[in-house]
Parts: sequence; C-alpha cells; structure tokens
Amino acid sequence: MTRRSVSDTTVARDLLRLDRDHLWHPYTAARDSAHHVVRDGDGPWLTLLDADGREHRALDGMGSWWAMVHGHRHPALVEAVTEQASRLAHVMFGGLTHGPAVALAERLLELTPAELEHVFLADSGSVSVEVALKLTHQAQAARGRPERDRFLTVRGGYHGDTIGAMSVCDPVNGMHAAFGAMVHTNIFAPRPPAARPTAAGWQTDDAALESWAHEFRRLADQHHDEVAGVIVEPVLQGAGGMYVYAPEALRVMREVCDEHGFTLIADEIATGFGRTGRWLACEWAEVVPDVLCLGKALTGGIMTGAAVLCTREIADAISSGTPPALMHGPTFMANPLFCAAACASLDLLADPENGWSTQVPTIERGLQDGLDAARGLPGVADVRVLGGVGVVEMTEPVDLPRLTAAAVARGVWLRPFGRLVYVMPPYVSTPAEIEHLCSGLVGAVADVAHTQDANA
Ligand SMILES: *Cc1c(COP(=O)(O)O)cnc(C)c1O
Repeated sequence: MTRRSVSDTTVARDLLRLDRDHLWHPYTAARDSAHHVVRDGDGPWLTLLDADGREHRALDGMGSWWAMVHGHRHPALVEAVTEQASRLAHVMFGGLTHGPAVALAERLLELTPAELEHVFLADSGSVSVEVALKLTHQAQAARGRPERDRFLTVRGGYHGDTIGAMSVCDPVNGMHAAFGAMVHTNIFAPRPPAARPTAAGWQTDDAALESWAHEFRRLADQHHDEVAGVIVEPVLQGAGGMYVYAPEALRVMREVCDEHGFTLIADEIATGFGRTGRWLACEWAEVVPDVLCLGKALTGGIMTGAAVLCTREIADAISSGTPPALMHGPTFMANPLFCAAACASLDLLADPENGWSTQVPTIERGLQDGLDAARGLPGVADVRVLGGVGVVEMTEPVDLPRLTAAAVARGVWLRPFGRLVYVMPPYVSTPAEIEHLCSGLVGAVADVAHTQDANA
C-alpha cells in the first residue's frame, strides 16, 4: 500500500473495504463487513467513523465485551504496560519467572477464596477453560479415576470457542451439530429457573427450583462414574442468554460435587471483578469452587489474559499423577505485559473510594432507572438488571444492522444477539453517561419497532 495523505472519508472507506475483503469478524461470513472504524477510545467513549467518514461519538455500552471496566486509555493502565514494555515485554515462562507474574498471582490469591492456592496464567478465556477441563480430568485420573472424562453442566452456558470449551457450551446455541464428532459429548442438565434479586432476597419459582435440583441430582447419580466435574457460570449466564438464576441452584451444584467427588469449576470470566454486584458471582451463593476461571476484565481490558486458580489438593493430585505435571503451557503464558496490566487493573478495582464497590451499585441504580422505560414498549418481553449488567429481552430476534445503526445515531455502541439487547458499560461511566446509554438503548429499540410497524 502506498502512503498518502487522505481525508477521514477515504481512510474509513478504504479500511472498511479492505476489512470486508480480507478479515474475519466474530461469528460472521467472510464478507460480513464491519460498518464502523474505531478511531480511538476515551473513558467509556468510542470515536467511530462510518463509511462516509462521518464521526460518531458512541458510549461503549458493551464495555468491549465485558473487559473495559476502567474505560479506554486509563492512564494507570497505559503507564503500567508502557513501563513494563520498556523493561521486559515478553519472555518464555518455562524455567523462568518474573516479578509481574508473581505479583499478579499474589493479588489473585488475596482476592479469591483462601482454598484456591495455585494459579495458571493463560492467554485467553477459552484457553483458561481448556486448562480447567484438563486439570480436572488429570486430577481425577491421578486419584485413580481415569474413566472420569466427561463434564456435567447446565443448558444455556457459554465457556468459549475452542473445541473443549465448546463441548460444555449450550449444545444448541453452541452449534455442536456443525462440528460433529470433533465435539466431546458432555452431560447437560436443564438450566435452573430464572430468578431476580430483590431487596427482600432472590425471587424464584421454588417448585421449579426443586424439580430442577431433582433432575440435576438424577443426572449426577446416573453418570457419577464418568463425570470429572461440573462447570458453570455462577448466577449469570452471559453469552448463552444473559440469564440470571438463583444462587440456591449453585449451592445444589456444590453439594452434588461434594457428594460424588466431582470438581466444581466456576467460570467467572464474565461475572468476575464485581460485574454482578459481588466481587465474584459465587459469593451470591457463598459457594467456594475448586477451580476458578477469570479473564475478560482481568486486565481492565487492555491486554488479553486469563487465570485459572485451583485448590492445593488438585494441584498436588496432578503432581502425583502420570504424567506428574499439568499438561499445558502456551507460548504467551504469564506474558509480562498482561501481568502488569492485570496488577494495575486490580489495584484500581480495589480502591475503596472509587473502585468497583462504589461504581457498580451506582451503575446498577442507573440501569434500573434508565431501562425501566423499555418495559411496555412494543416487542419487549423482559427487562432485567444485575449489578453492572442490563438486559432488554425482545419477543423476536433483533434486526442487528438496523438496531446498531439506530443506537450509533443516538451516541451508543450496542451489539445485540438473538432477542437480547444488553449492556455492561465500563465502571467509570458517570450517572449522566448511564442515563445517556439507557435512553439511547430504549430509543433505538423504539426506533426499530416503529419502522418495523411502518413497513408491516
Ligand atoms: C468470554 C467468555 C469465555 C471465553 O473467553 P475468551 O477470552 O473470549 O476466549 C469463557 N467463558 C465465559 C463465561 C465468557 O464470558
């Protein structure tokens, strides 16, 4: 490509054209193009250029897929990564260690249940799930149960896109059929009944919860010889449906694991770091998992990186097995830039004055107030808020291009899927910004419903 001095219009057009011709995007056909170029980010805001080079400031309602909790270009994170890059950007983790990795492990041990004592620093969420599944099976094999090589989970889950992680995603949403025998067949219980947190506690259908628990126990009994562990997103299922269920169901899973010697894996890649209104979503149920996966917001969204924590018992079991080692070790394991970013992000989150514990409740109130206006709009089936997550569920699948365009026109970046229009904004969003986000979302939903009526 030749270098030229060009206007934003030409730049945006060229980028969008080259992008359409050559780049894959998440879950899209080869020529499903992006419609906007992101020029930069600033706090919770993105500056987007459309194909005509027009500039749009849009609030990052998706928090860049749960990750960008401190907003874009946070000075403390930029400094942590820049400073680390100037000393050591990467080094192999085989036979070597470094300050940022140990500092991150120390912080994670401090910030998670005391039972979790051993840390694997992985390069993405899906990889951390692979590691969690592998280490669970390895520990079972080391305890003399090598036949335990399947997982019990609930429908509606999402655990990542690699083949192992896919095998525990919802079989329908996760499109198992498209991959045939590549996907290991696991055991799926129904998803627990929906629930809502209220001032008076969690509201759920107790009878439905009881029959769900009965079915979960039945499946565990039926498959107890082959199940290595239970993997679940605590309380909030994210990409599988933005679905909230009662903490009681998680307690049932913990009990079942204890009764059968299954490992309980909590996938908190989306729910961790305060997003649901608790530091870890497991805390809603006062449940301690045996294995914990963290990712997404772990670095405040500025680097890729994830972590798997496990108990001493599991770590020791693996180390006495055959082979006597956890069989995973990616090239970018414990990358120093990732570790430095994660340490800086965790420090910001822990700030008692202006960390997650003050930010998330403020956002929750803002989402409750602001999304209330969606109730009763044509096509809206349900509105729900948990911590820093707001969901407007429609009765029909959303017209994605039209809704995104309507939202951008209102200064908001949204990326609905299926029937769900949802937000998990950066924690640094002010009350006025949350109001802007909610009115943009509600307005876009109304705009699209309105034009659909007009076309009908
Ligand atoms: C996003 C997500 C993953 C996968 O993480 P990646 O970093 O995208 O590989 C796994 N589990 C849950 C619950 C997630 O939300």
